[in-house]
Amino acid sequence: MANIKITKTQESKHSKVDWDNLGFGVYLSDHIYVSNYKDGEWNDGEIIPYGTFPCEPAMCTLHYGQSIFEGLKAFRSVDGSVNLFRIDRNAKRLNHSGSRVVIPPFDEQQFVDALVQLIKVDHNWVPRTRGHSLYIRPVVFGDGNFLGVHSSKTFRHIIMTSPVASYYPEGMSPVKILVAKDFVRAVRGGLGTAKTAGNYAASLLASEQAKKSGYSQVLWLDGVGRHFVDEVGAMNIMFVIDGTLITPPLESGSILEGVTRDTVLTLARDFGIPISERSIAIEEVFDAHAEGRLNEVFGTGTAAVISPVGQLHYNGETIVINDMQIGEYAKRFYDHITGIQYGEIEDKHDWIINIKNFD
Ligand SMILES: *Cc1c(COP(=O)(O)O)cnc(C)c1O
Repeated sequence: MANIKITKTQESKHSKVDWDNLGFGVYLSDHIYVSNYKDGEWNDGEIIPYGTFPCEPAMCTLHYGQSIFEGLKAFRSVDGSVNLFRIDRNAKRLNHSGSRVVIPPFDEQQFVDALVQLIKVDHNWVPRTRGHSLYIRPVVFGDGNFLGVHSSKTFRHIIMTSPVASYYPEGMSPVKILVAKDFVRAVRGGLGTAKTAGNYAASLLASEQAKKSGYSQVLWLDGVGRHFVDEVGAMNIMFVIDGTLITPPLESGSILEGVTRDTVLTLARDFGIPISERSIAIEEVFDAHAEGRLNEVFGTGTAAVISPVGQLHYNGETIVINDMQIGEYAKRFYDHITGIQYGEIEDKHDWIINIKNFD
């Protein structure tokens, strides 16, 4: 087990937090975990107070985006302990993302140990309100200082945390989505399967434009023919057509392998819901709607868990899905997943790491 040195802050920011208005990613907790990669290896890392660090103008990541991140959450269980959900998946995905942008792998057990240590140090930052959680953001980037285009030789891994409100302060509500026609997020062979900085830069303009036109997010089509559905915003997407749960396959090579996606598919198998991981064209979605066979559409991701889509706009045509109401599938998955996360429903698949002792 890694020997993680802990230096605690002299000045906690805990009392300055407006716990009734957390928002998302506004408040950063007192401590971070930092590990450095040098001479071919990651060090054990340490836990230190959150703060600024010096950075040279030539730091390569600012120029070339050699950077990856993760997003996961810690939940306050009904008995006061803290639950981490499927973090082995995040550890694996971090390394998958890294492999695509030449960031050296980080030991998966060290990732879990570091995270558990960090949560223990900042355990009072895990909100106590049902629906709220502690968002965990690991980021790994090249920190070499040079202007040539090549991989950095040194890297930094930082894990920060942020107490966040429920994604749905007023209850879950279906959103309006614009299908992107002029922009694509990722292409086969590109960076789409990696949680790397550039993908999010690629998505910003389309998101901004969609928001200006009154939509919450964009739905991304494949980068080649722009027919097949990829993702919705930074979430995976699912359709229920004639009672079958359909979601684009990972083999498409341009979508991110969401932990929530896998969780929903696993639960669907448990529930006996037929599933189909296959390519689905946007035209097929609109046709299914016209024939009255499109039951539901929703996004899946850590932040929202499930985000029902109430409207889709494509090529001058708008369809309203399930009367703009939350569908039974969306609700069932949402209730079941959050139930496991908050310790209310049995964790049959061993998805939870439970932290009881905080010393
Ligand atoms: C993070 C992310 C997802 C969702 O992944 P989860 O592990 O379910 O949170 C989906 N698509 C993109 C592009 C993402 O960045």
